Order: sequence, then C-alpha cells, then structure tokens
Amino acid sequence: MDALILVNKFEPLPACYADSLILTEAGGKFMEKQAAEQLERLLKAAQADGIFISVISGYRSDDYQQMLWEKEISLEMGRGLGYKDAVAKVGRTLALPGCSEHSTGLAADLGTKDAEDVQPDFGRTTAGKWLTVNACHYGFILRYPPMKEHLTGISYEPWHYRYVGREAAELITESGICLEEFLHFYSDKYTSC
Ligand SMILES: [Zn+2]
Repeated sequence: MDALILVNKFEPLPACYADSLILTEAGGKFMEKQAAEQLERLLKAAQADGIFISVISGYRSDDYQQMLWEKEISLEMGRGLGYKDAVAKVGRTLALPGCSEHSTGLAADLGTKDAEDVQPDFGRTTAGKWLTVNACHYGFILRYPPMKEHLTGISYEPWHYRYVGREAAELITESGICLEEFLHFYSDKYTSC
C-alpha cells in the first residue's frame, strides 16, 4: 500500500489497485487496513477530548462512484443545465469514477456526531477544528484546503480527510501545503518512484 498515492482528475487510480486492497472497518465504514487502524486511534483520541466524530463515507468502489456521478449529473440536468455545464458543476465537488480518493480506501468524509451527510460548515465546528490541529498526528491531512483549488482541482472540502502517513501528514499540515505540492517538492525523499 502506497499511502502517498496521488489520485485526482489527471491521475486516475490504476485498474489493478483494488486487487491488493485490504479493507477493515473504522467508525462503521470500510477503509484500507492501515488507514482504518489510524482512523480508529484518531476517533478514540477525539473522544478522550470530549469530541465525537462520525465517519460518513470511507471506501467507495468505482461502480459506486459511477452511480453517484450519474445521479448528480441527472439531478443538475433536471434543474435545467445542459450536459457540459452539469459535468463542469458536479466535477467541482465530486470526483469522476476512477479518479476518486475514496476508491483508494485512504480517504474518509468526517462529520459531527450523528451527521448523515457532509457538512459545508464542518470546519467551523468543534470537531472540525479539532481535526485541523490533530488529524496529522494520526497520518491524516485535510486533502482539499481552501485556496488550493487550482492545484487539487477540487473545491474546499472541510470534511474530506486523507491518510498519507504521519511523517508526511505533519509536514504537509505544518507547511500549509497540499498533497500535490508535497509530492512536487519532496517526492525524492518520500516516494520510491
Ligand atoms: Zn470525500
């Protein structure tokens, strides 16, 4: 498992990735084994501070992502947008099938206690604030920070956390960079290819 794998609209997930993926449950959702173990540790640490964080979404297969994609496109077209405009609008917040970090098993959408869907204002909640400070110590980063849309291709998502391993997560968080920048500047030191 390569915790630093880059998946975005320019770098789809290799088709064989799922073959070696081992999934384990964390917070009621499935995640890649190592990410799941660290997410469980994170959830426990938050609880010890009196903060309850729910896992809204973890691993998603490509088929599931395809279904989500088609559902959102038809919703926007039902509201009157043409196909091209619908694709552009949905593409700002939802990854194309094959390009979703959720298919790596390394990403989790997190929310406040009992949240059933992602919360646009999550970053302003106590749980959201706790995560921005502490998630890196468990190897997780806020994957789509504000002001980095031009690099990540995705709008600010205060709920979407990605496992990259502790060392990389702490460096990324403390430097205020995104994963694309980290891989650009530090890939020699941290990745083998
Ligand atoms: Zn997400």
